[in-house]
Amino acid sequence: MAVGQLTATATCAAMSATVEADGRRVGERILAARVGWLAHLVGQMAGQIVAGHWTGTDLAILAAGVGPDGRALPVKGWMALRRLGWAAPVPDGVYASDRVRRCAQEQAARALRLGVYRREVLHAIVATLPADGRRDDADWQALRELLPAGVTGAVVANRTRQVRAYQHAQGRLPGDLTELEAAPAVAAQVLLAAADKQLAAIGRDGPGRALLRVQLPLTARPASAADWAWHALPITLPAHVAEHARLCAPTLRVVGHRVRVDLPHRAPATTAPVRGHRVALGLDWGVNTLLTGTAGRLTDTGRVVTDGRMLRYDATAVSAQLHRLRQHREHLAAKRDHHTTLTTGLPDDDPRARHLTVLAARATAEHGQVCARIRHLNKTLAWSAGRWAVDQAVALHAGVIYVEDLATLAARGRRKGNARLSGQVRGQVVDAIVHLAAKAGIAVVTVPARGTSRYCPRCGQGHTELTHTPAPDRAGERGWKWAICGRCNLSTDRDHAAAMRITARGLLAQHHVRTDRTTGRHRITTVVEGNVATVRRPATTITTPGRKLRPTPKRPTVGKLSHRVPDRRTAPAPPSGGQRPAGQAPKNHHQTVAASGPAHDHLKPRHHRTGFHHVHATPVITLTGDYGPGTTRPRPHPKRPKHTGKHR
Ligand SMILES: [Zn+2]
Repeated sequence: MAVGQLTATATCAAMSATVEADGRRVGERILAARVGWLAHLVGQMAGQIVAGHWTGTDLAILAAGVGPDGRALPVKGWMALRRLGWAAPVPDGVYASDRVRRCAQEQAARALRLGVYRREVLHAIVATLPADGRRDDADWQALRELLPAGVTGAVVANRTRQVRAYQHAQGRLPGDLTELEAAPAVAAQVLLAAADKQLAAIGRDGPGRALLRVQLPLTARPASAADWAWHALPITLPAHVAEHARLCAPTLRVVGHRVRVDLPHRAPATTAPVRGHRVALGLDWGVNTLLTGTAGRLTDTGRVVTDGRMLRYDATAVSAQLHRLRQHREHLAAKRDHHTTLTTGLPDDDPRARHLTVLAARATAEHGQVCARIRHLNKTLAWSAGRWAVDQAVALHAGVIYVEDLATLAARGRRKGNARLSGQVRGQVVDAIVHLAAKAGIAVVTVPARGTSRYCPRCGQGHTELTHTPAPDRAGERGWKWAICGRCNLSTDRDHAAAMRITARGLLAQHHVRTDRTTGRHRITTVVEGNVATVRRPATTITTPGRKLRPTPKRPTVGKLSHRVPDRRTAPAPPSGGQRPAGQAPKNHHQTVAASGPAHDHLKPRHHRTGFHHVHATPVITLTGDYGPGTTRPRPHPKRPKHTGKHR
């Protein structure tokens, strides 16, 4: 295993500070004002740089990445801008040190580089846009070749909609990003990463504590060096910042009247291998369920087997809430635009204009609040789902998580639902899974999404088409939720069938894994199909006190694998809610979860803590990878030939 670095950002608060020169203590309000002045100053300068260089020509220069002297531009944003001679203009009568200007240039460089990236996406879309109608497969392929790596289908869809709207209004395609969008607004924050110890320094100050030293202005418009002073800000570190993690220069911002310190911290992490895995967790994206997973194991003979348990993170309720919030956001935006349009026709001193301006400002403020709520909910949901997925993988002893490639997901035209989750949430879930999996030493590999829910995972090597019905008992009707195979009689949830196929596509195509050099993400683009057989889990991991210690007798099934392929799962999964059958004792915690280690002690077997009231997630239950053919697990009842005799 290689050792890499794992960086994460912890959001901390700075409640007070000490002025180093005279030892005077500064309270939260004054500290927030001083940090706010610095953030405003930096943001003002950065905004001017961005506005001054928001042209197709300058974005092209930055995109080319070559300075006027013919050398490649430095990776650090502020250095690149200095090489190009794009200076930070200090407001008249204000004194700001070179390090403060650096912070402004860094922030401007990041905004402009984001513009360069969006411009690249736009150019790819404009160059390959079909004259009318939807993209066919050839259009998608041409587009993918031009797009930068890692652009999700949701981004392509949004950008295409924007281009079409421009085309409709202007009668032509946009020539450059700057025609389509005004210069982006720059947030009021201080990226201390661009500074050095002449402006700020961070260090540990005992266990769980850090001390940030930073120069802050004493007035809104500091006129000389005397208007700046060193402040020492004590910071309490959150528990998830490891003791041995290295603290990096933070970003400061003011929220309300509080100082927020976004503190990146870096710890060595082992890089999980991407090949040679035997046990995997495969995850399918649902419309609302967010994630449906299944465990899979590669046997010595190259077959893929699964225990047949469906793992599900069902975020339908949160998805509906997000849908309501998005509707509300559109409503407020329309209201704001409407008031603004009405104002433009009126003279400034008209009382109606003043009233309309007030209304527009109110709608703008509410719009901002709703946007913040959506962002917060998206982020919380993404980390909750990511945590669940990685906990499941750890409990299953999986070395790798296979997840559908979001880039290939959109081309497939999934059903549109009112309350469907946005592609953005899925991107955030992938980021969360990648991060948390890296901490746990588990690899994350994306596999092609095309056709995962169309073909039977159990027979035909990926060529038998499934029939989709609304429910298992409504076989004659056309539907979405349930999948039935006419050939092998498989009858299962649609997303569960897809998760099985994803697991197989990953485990069987491990030698096709490619790693992107810039993002470090792993992906499989070659489709290798194979059947997935359902086998029994070892009885010991699924028993409940008071329940018999042998598998449930199997039902009659058809086909060659009938002795180990049940048409339904052979053992009931524990109920996902809080209900348990009457008269049964609560499950013994240690029997089911103890093996997953101290990090998972908080997980209760029948309830997975998602952080949401209305999210239903399959509880995390330990399962060793030791199941199915070719394994050496002890048989609980060797004298019972009816159940164990013909397994090997
Ligand atoms: Zn089948």
